[in-house]
Amino acid sequence: MARKIGSRYTAHQILGRGSAGTVWLGEGPDGPVAIKLLREDLASDQELVGRFVQERTALLGLEHPNVVSVRDLVVDGNDLALVMDLVRGTDLRTRLERERRLAPEAAVAIAADVADGLAAAHAAGVVHRDVKPENVLLDMQGPLGPGGAHPALLTDFGVAKLIDSPKRTRATKIIGTPDYLAPEIVEGLPPRAAVDIYALATVLYELLAGFTPFGGGHPGAVLRRHVTETVVPLPGIPDELWQLIVQCLAKAPASRLRASELAARLRELLPMLTGMPPLDVDEPDTEPLEEPPAETGAQAPAAGGERARRRGAVPLVPGARPDSNRDTHTSMRVPAPDELAGGALGTARVPRASGAPRPGSARHRAAARRRRVTLGIAGAVLVAALGAGAWWATSEGDQAPPPANSHSTAP
Ligand code: ADP
Ligand code: MG
Repeated sequence: MARKIGSRYTAHQILGRGSAGTVWLGEGPDGPVAIKLLREDLASDQELVGRFVQERTALLGLEHPNVVSVRDLVVDGNDLALVMDLVRGTDLRTRLERERRLAPEAAVAIAADVADGLAAAHAAGVVHRDVKPENVLLDMQGPLGPGGAHPALLTDFGVAKLIDSPKRTRATKIIGTPDYLAPEIVEGLPPRAAVDIYALATVLYELLAGFTPFGGGHPGAVLRRHVTETVVPLPGIPDELWQLIVQCLAKAPASRLRASELAARLRELLPMLTGMPPLDVDEPDTEPLEEPPAETGAQAPAAGGERARRRGAVPLVPGARPDSNRDTHTSMRVPAPDELAGGALGTARVPRASGAPRPGSARHRAAARRRRVTLGIAGAVLVAALGAGAWWATSEGDQAPPPANSHSTAP
């Protein structure tokens, strides 16, 4: 089923499917490559193709061991394709789903790699904007690092921005996954480099805990938590590591570390973490969609559906499964007004040490009542986030000079 992409590439086999299109194992003049063939509806969007070409410099310019380089952009008839370095391995989401939690040493080694990749990007004026486990690829052919971690490479630079046009966002009701969104984005400010640091700290927390600090429940509630809630220490986490995470999850972007400093500080911690087993943390309760009747005292249902649905890992190299159809960053649906008005409220995700008693249901309900008062702002926050999305898509090129530090389209 070989297929020609432009004049120089041949796509041989599907490696995986993502929200933006299908990734193929291909062959180019310099050997094997990964080719992301954008979805037809994206490829036939003239405005998007224009921006795709405009972004060429930012996308092509990055060369770093922890960045999946984009080698070529192909616009050919109906095909719109990104030609990338082929990474033989798996993505971080797949590894996390398999292991649930990583040992601190491996988690920190991976986060340090990603921070190094981000440092290079930020130095080049590129903000990633979509740092999450799905966009971190683990190179299984690379040398084993601390804690048995393979080299980690950040992928999908600039892709979220391209697809994020206001027209598309309105038409398909798409916003990004809210779990990794920095509070300043929720509040409608332009995404600077610090949003990537926040997202990476969220990923590191997730690698250690098995869940994100502010995720779970209703998207509006998740957005609100980013702005209003603080994280609670994970049981058993070394204090130095926790302080780094807290600093990078700071609500104020200026308080977060820069990528290069974060990478250095993480690597300093590695010797101390050698041999430490994964943290013994239980996933916090998830808010029930409907409050249980007082008499039953029923517990919140576990959020197992999404977890179970997301399983189905895809090896990056040809293997057991031919492809995947996982929901990633653009799969989140914006809640309808009625859902916002009556949906789940969401809880602060207070991690419990494994085996600790679950909160009593009466206490749980009382907390839910208190939180209900704050539901109103969830809708407002969501609107702000959509506004931010619109800003992203309209703030390019000639409309306004890009802020220093942000993803620039200038050559
Ligand atoms: P999207 O971001 O559009 O949702 P992804 O970039 O996650 O799509 O790609 C979907 C799948 O394709 C990934 O899960 C992975 O299996 C595979 N893939 C993506 N990029 C590469 C690459 N550079 N090398 C090898 N496989 C890749
Ligand atoms: Mg991706």
